[in-house]
Amino acid sequence: MPGWDQVDRLVRDAHRSYATDPEGTVADYIPVLAETDPDLFGLAVIEVDGGIHDAGDATHAFSIQSISKLFVYALVIQEVGHAPVREIVGVNNTGLPFNSLIALELNDGHPMNPMVNAGAIATTALMPGSTTAEQWERVREGLSAFAGRPLSLNGEVYRSEAATNDRNRAIGRLLRSYGRLSVDPDEIVDVYTRQCALDVTAHDLAVMGATLADGGVNPITGRRVVDAEVCRDALAVVAATGLYERSGEWLFEIGLPAKSGVSGGIVAVVPGKGAIGAFSPRLDAAGNSVRSQRAIGYLSRALGLNLFASAPAAPFRS
Ligand code: GLN
Repeated sequence: MPGWDQVDRLVRDAHRSYATDPEGTVADYIPVLAETDPDLFGLAVIEVDGGIHDAGDATHAFSIQSISKLFVYALVIQEVGHAPVREIVGVNNTGLPFNSLIALELNDGHPMNPMVNAGAIATTALMPGSTTAEQWERVREGLSAFAGRPLSLNGEVYRSEAATNDRNRAIGRLLRSYGRLSVDPDEIVDVYTRQCALDVTAHDLAVMGATLADGGVNPITGRRVVDAEVCRDALAVVAATGLYERSGEWLFEIGLPAKSGVSGGIVAVVPGKGAIGAFSPRLDAAGNSVRSQRAIGYLSRALGLNLFASAPAAPFRS
């Protein structure tokens, strides 16, 4: 990374450049999310040496949603190991939306990867624990260790999604019908729904991502959360799948492993350097935050973060 001052200035520039971008619509299939202020916009960069750069609504709390999938996946590889998780959950893109049932049917009930709902539910099911309450507690503690502070459940979001998540329950049942779930599907979907309802901020996302960038050590708390090989595995899978069916376009344009969620967050990880957390609720058709994508793209180019580039490029504005 360039010096602290330069990164700080570029984070503020990136925020300013997209702060009035009107494109995209707020998710409404989880009823309470439809009430989110569409103009919120936070951006944060955390460097592995502990440098912090926040802009806009970087400390505004929102439910983590699908971004939890990346961190639960890392925790589960840490507990269960690389090979079984690869076998049971898979590592390939489905090319289909995150809540697709067809993707399961097309693949003999194999979830394909941990960043779509089927694979995330199958991943959460692998979390050790003798009850689902114990599994949930481990998920909450693990995600909190990534964030470096205790994360709490947003009860309103949890209840709103739990009352309307028929599709995810169908995915749970379908997984079990294919013999790919050894726990009660409704109970594990409930743990998954809770993990998605944990409140975070763009700043938290940057700390969580920076922990993966730092080989599993949280750069703010200094605490090891997972091993370095686990970070490598999780980042490789999320690079191929983190923006769902748009993952190829993202990697082509931005060149960083990243994970998005329907509440408007995106975390992008720069191995060995740091991470970018962004939040803006206006989404594209695949459910990825428009301003977050653009601001991260700006920083990727301006700071020369693209993993496939050999030198920084000029910032772009689209
Ligand atoms: N909880 C949401 C769901 O299961 C998460 C989806 C997302 O963020 N893409 O539908």
